Amino acid sequence: MKKTLFLLLYGLLLILAGPTEVEAVLPLEGKVIVVDPGHGGYDPGAVRAGVEEKNINLQISLKLKGYLEEKGARVFMTRNGDYNLAVVGLHKKEAHRYDLRKRLDMAKQSGASLLISIHANCTYGVSQQGAEVFYYQPSEKGRLIADSIQSELRSVPGMRKRIIKTSNCYILRNASMPAVLVEVGYLSSPGERKNLLRGEYQELISQSISSGILKALSVQ
Ligand SMILES: [Zn+2]
Repeated sequence: MKKTLFLLLYGLLLILAGPTEVEAVLPLEGKVIVVDPGHGGYDPGAVRAGVEEKNINLQISLKLKGYLEEKGARVFMTRNGDYNLAVVGLHKKEAHRYDLRKRLDMAKQSGASLLISIHANCTYGVSQQGAEVFYYQPSEKGRLIADSIQSELRSVPGMRKRIIKTSNCYILRNASMPAVLVEVGYLSSPGERKNLLRGEYQELISQSISSGILKALSVQ
């Protein structure tokens, strides 16, 4: 009788304690992602009305890093401040190429499964607008990730709805892992330039890029 009572109480305790807690696995756990804020230091990238591309790129990249880490990814940045990776003594194209080569080496050494380069666009007119995602044509994975990011960016309120494009640019062509390049908007458009300077808009853009990455990587 005593034994039955004990078992009953024990059973009741188990019910009250509820199921054993299972540690939640974050969706990007185990993924290594390299975020590459374009330009930096003496290379401002595009400049319009005093706004320098390099700063927008870094601000959005840092926010993107936060969102990706929240989801469990390990994130490496090719730069964390206002500098680039070229060495003293190199100039113009040579310096630019050296900088990009260094960024690609960093990405390779980190063992990343994705490289995402952040830039802002600029053109002569003022009417071009909208974020655009680029990939290197032979890379099927690159295309899938670019497409996923682009469709998230299309849902940003007021965003000009663009489609993904191919690019032969150095960083995409030479990356040893799937790589995409996001042009977050046009500095030549007065409205978009103003938006890109706003922290809130930068959050929206980086959040969209991060959910695009998450969706693409979770189907692979
Ligand atoms: Zn750029």
